[in-house]
Amino acid sequence: MNLHEYQGKEILASHGVRIQRGIVANTASEAVAAAKDLTAETGTGWHVIKAQVHAGGRGKGGGVKLAKNLQEVEEIAGQIIGMNLVTPQTSAEGKLVRKVLVAEDVYYPGDSETSEFYMSVLLNRGTGKNMIMYSTEGGMEIEVVAEKTPHLIFTEEIDPSVGLQGFQARRIAFNLGLSGTAFKEMVKFVSALYTAYVKSDSSLFEINPVLKTSDDKILAVDAKVTIDDNALFRHKDIEEMRDVTEENPIEVEAKAVGLNYVDLDGNVGCMVNGAGLAMATMDLIKQAGGEPANFLDVGGTADAKRVEEAFRIILKDENVKAILINIFGGIVRCDRVAQGVVDAYKNMGDAINVPIIVRLQGTNAEVAKELIDNSGLAVHSAVMFQEAADKVKEVLA
Ligand code: GDP
Ligand code: MN
Repeated sequence: MNLHEYQGKEILASHGVRIQRGIVANTASEAVAAAKDLTAETGTGWHVIKAQVHAGGRGKGGGVKLAKNLQEVEEIAGQIIGMNLVTPQTSAEGKLVRKVLVAEDVYYPGDSETSEFYMSVLLNRGTGKNMIMYSTEGGMEIEVVAEKTPHLIFTEEIDPSVGLQGFQARRIAFNLGLSGTAFKEMVKFVSALYTAYVKSDSSLFEINPVLKTSDDKILAVDAKVTIDDNALFRHKDIEEMRDVTEENPIEVEAKAVGLNYVDLDGNVGCMVNGAGLAMATMDLIKQAGGEPANFLDVGGTADAKRVEEAFRIILKDENVKAILINIFGGIVRCDRVAQGVVDAYKNMGDAINVPIIVRLQGTNAEVAKELIDNSGLAVHSAVMFQEAADKVKEVLA
């Protein structure tokens, strides 16, 4: 699950990471009130207005702007809220901005003593360890740094069972070229950041930029956070931060009925039991000249209700030209699934307007095929994988 910048910063602050402070606002007048409150708190008069969407590169798209007085706060917040923000990380249509973060301006104009760093904590699946990736080249896209000046990116691997060691935090501060107060501040920053990452069960905490001010404070100006979905059950407070308006609407609906569904760009809908078979089915579709429209694992209980829910989810995608149902009956009997397909099809009537190919293999596969063939419905049945692929090719032709 991804978080907004303001939510990520809340988690950071709760673990003692110094942040660029801000208050979230839904309207231009809320933004003005937020700016007043912030000024009272921080004493600074300038503010940055930052679009809150699940995409980076907002600055480039005009989603991060400096306001020098309350009138500018109102104008800029008014502009940004409701805009379709297009950034290098969004689609060409962009993302609708519903809220902004009104943040204290932490850059002092004309100040050459400030520096921007890059820092992220993430899981290295290759080594099974956590990793802090950091660079002196902050404020720009890390992908570009990685391509042009890879020697300016450092990594520190952390064994999760012993945690971040003092010498590691010091090495990071040293490699970033810091000394004195800034060095000590960076050591504290890194330790608190790592704690925030571990305690929130995140898979990514990316801070770009980390700012060093001229008075040697180290703070997080941005925060991109991904929480491990499988750990959300033990973080009710974080789970409440979910913003479904930022997520794929079909995936949100699928999740609500307990289906493992991932939306893809192709034209053949897939309904499969088991993630491995679902992957193999997607390959099969490609071999047959189609492109999978989704990944969908219906799980172990492929009864009529579940099949019907899966049909409805798959058909919400307008690009679907055919549906391939591929079920292996191990624990579940194929004839039960076949009956489920027939019942769901009858229930849904005209809602199903694309050809269906059903391939059932395993317990009672032949009985199942008979059931489908005798149903009188426009459903193509197959027992062999290749047979199903050929039928997909046929209906797409
Ligand atoms: P992103 O573009 O989505 O990564 O959003 P960021 O939060 O990283 O902001 C983009 C850029 O805006 C940063 O790299 C900074 O250079 C700039 N910025 C952020 N906060 C401030 C601020 O308080 N004052 C000024 N002058 N610039 C800021
Ligand atoms: Mn950023």
